[in-house]
Amino acid sequence: MCGIFGIAGHKEAAHLTYLGLHALQHRGQQASGMVLWDEGGIREVVRRGLVVEVFDDKALQYLGGPKGGLSIGHVRYPKREKRSLQNAQPLCVTYAKGPLGVAMDGAFVNYEEVRTQLEEKGAIFQSETDAEAVMHLIAHAKAATLEAALTEALQRLKGGYAMLLLAEGKLVATRDVYGIRPLVLGKRDGIWVVASETTGLDLIEAQFIREVEPGEVCVIRGEALESHFPFAKAKQACCAFEHIYFARLDSEVFGCSVHEARKRMGAALSRIHPVAADVVIPVPDSGTAAAIGYAQAAGIPYEQGLIRSHYVGRTFIEPQQSIRNFGVKLKLSAVRSVLNGKRVVVVDDSIIRGTTSKKIVALLRSVGASEIHMRIASPPAEWPCCYGIDTPSRAELISASHSLEEVCTHIGADTLAFLSPVGLKEAMRPANGFCDACVSGRYPTQWVSEGP
Ligand code: AMP
Repeated sequence: MCGIFGIAGHKEAAHLTYLGLHALQHRGQQASGMVLWDEGGIREVVRRGLVVEVFDDKALQYLGGPKGGLSIGHVRYPKREKRSLQNAQPLCVTYAKGPLGVAMDGAFVNYEEVRTQLEEKGAIFQSETDAEAVMHLIAHAKAATLEAALTEALQRLKGGYAMLLLAEGKLVATRDVYGIRPLVLGKRDGIWVVASETTGLDLIEAQFIREVEPGEVCVIRGEALESHFPFAKAKQACCAFEHIYFARLDSEVFGCSVHEARKRMGAALSRIHPVAADVVIPVPDSGTAAAIGYAQAAGIPYEQGLIRSHYVGRTFIEPQQSIRNFGVKLKLSAVRSVLNGKRVVVVDDSIIRGTTSKKIVALLRSVGASEIHMRIASPPAEWPCCYGIDTPSRAELISASHSLEEVCTHIGADTLAFLSPVGLKEAMRPANGFCDACVSGRYPTQWVSEGP
């Protein structure tokens, strides 16, 4: 899962991309990168770290020439096995037709197969990224233009993705035919801007225009946008997990406010699984909007019973062996005055392995909560995502191999309940269908072919 941002020719392209990526930081914190194209050629800065750490004054000065240019950027959320800097994006190469930059969010289900075929023909892969497969296929394509070469490449690949390419003095933006991963178009100073979510547009005061359509290939130069639909249409399947967990609360994703969708998930959860309680609290920040929805629908007071530390970096080093294993307490602390002696409804967005919920229940008990009712604003996650969300294998997904009662016992709550698939669908209000493969095991790529 990643965030991507692009701007198609602006005198402040580097700074605007920096800001756009900053507003997409929640989509990936491991590495940040930008590729900028102008008359002087192509330049790249791709490093490990947050946007503010990677793009200092020196980096932005190096990237942004006096006339500005076209740029694409990426924030990376790695799969566990793929943490090296080589896997950070955008990828940037110079091939027979000149420089090419690619930034991608998502994954191809047939990546391994295509990579093997390419390697058998002599391709040398330098990373494990799905984006590199696209680059190799573009380099091998017979087509004359970047967009035609991309179309040739994507005919071989199948999956859920949103992608930005930079070459030949143009920006190309595309989305998979199912519309699994999000991508929106906006304008600033008359210039086209592309971002994973509307938050990327809002920070730079770009006006939201529309989503990139599923299967659309947009060829953009400054104020001009050419739209192509080279692929057969497919049944749409926008990713439910964007609304459940991933997207930022202030975004509009798939034409629907994330905050409102999460509140509706919480309200539906309260109607389907009510419980007598004194207080509703969220697991911040992932459960906040759903907890508000639950509390409002149930008529139970909403409180902040858990406080999240915003200062725990990814590289936090615990001081000594003797006081190690603070676990969840480093990130979350419990407010005794809110919880002591209370019957508490705790709302979170999802249970994946069950580790977080177990620690939270123990934390709430330690400050005297008398009853703990865990409410999860999505159905049990039983299937791994093959379209870019970092979920573990089926064997590690606790709901795949344990009953509701067993999961409840494992986390130590008095009761546990999940949102139903119907409740999720109603809350998301999808205009054209959505992907809930993580809860149903029905993968959209299987609907039209042999499967993930
Ligand atoms: P777990 O402890 O494995 O059950 O994970 C559940 C917690 O992780 C919840 O609080 C979610 O908000 C959060 N979460 C869910 N999906 C992801 C993901 N793909 N990456 C990181 N955190 C996640």
